[in-house]
Amino acid sequence: MLPPANEVRQLHDLSGKVAMVTGAGSGLGRAMAWGMACNGADIVIVDQDAAKARACADEIAAGSGRKTMSLGGDVSAEDDVRAAVMAALAGFGRVDILVNNAGHNIRKPVSQFSVDEFDSLHNVHVRGTFLFCKHLSEHMQQRGSGSIINISSMLGLIAAPGVAPYAAAKAAIAAFSRVFALEMAPHGVRVNAIAPGYIDTPLTRTHPDEVRARIINVTPMGRFGLPRELIGPMLFLASEASSFVTGTTLLVDGGWTAQ
Ligand code: NAP
Repeated sequence: MLPPANEVRQLHDLSGKVAMVTGAGSGLGRAMAWGMACNGADIVIVDQDAAKARACADEIAAGSGRKTMSLGGDVSAEDDVRAAVMAALAGFGRVDILVNNAGHNIRKPVSQFSVDEFDSLHNVHVRGTFLFCKHLSEHMQQRGSGSIINISSMLGLIAAPGVAPYAAAKAAIAAFSRVFALEMAPHGVRVNAIAPGYIDTPLTRTHPDEVRARIINVTPMGRFGLPRELIGPMLFLASEASSFVTGTTLLVDGGWTAQ
């Protein structure tokens, strides 16, 4: 029995859903939040820069007509995460989609990393992802539905010099997502990761010109990805379009890892 055509056409529709996106004041998070708002979701933006979060929330509300909320907070601080989750639930009554996207990078050889720099990478990426999953999981379990998307990286799978702590954190996010997916599957909550390749955002614009040229040269599609090219993969994992997909890591890398 085929599903009705109307249902199929609306597989990516997020009407009536609330999506919470961390680090959405900029780059990929901003684009993915915009994409979900354009497909009907109300949006909660969490970023350590409260002014940037507010500007992004206002922009998305004005452009999409959806309701938005902005919250300042550090994803690696449990009190901030607890407060953000409570504010989102108080404001919207539900969170259907959680996107753990906040992050940064520090590039240098392992021997030159300080312990504080190592910790700061793992605190934001791994601890931050863990904290939001922990504090929203009960709500999602009680409702018997939800989609969690954790932003890993192609660098969690392949090697590049100078990013060992970042790569380790991104590999940890993919592993965490697989295990958490098993724990949440019986409760109707799906957990997946997205592993982007090199995308043109403030994070990668700090690469020197010769490194950018090398990246373009090695990427089969011959360019950096654009933040807007994360919208489709995000809509897929956030929506009913991926209703039988959990525990996977979706690569969005212009063909890099196919080589
Ligand atoms: P971005 O433009 O720098 O955006 C990251 C956002 O996260 C910024 O607004 C940043 O705020 C915020 N943030 C950082 N630490 C935070 C914290 N502790 N608490 C709350 N917010 C925090 O970078 P992006 O390229 O969009 O990266 C988004 C995610 O994609 C990251 O997890 C990154 O590792 C991942 N990723 C990116 C690429 C790529 O090529 N761009 C590839 C693979 C994976 P500040 O600006 O104030 O620091």
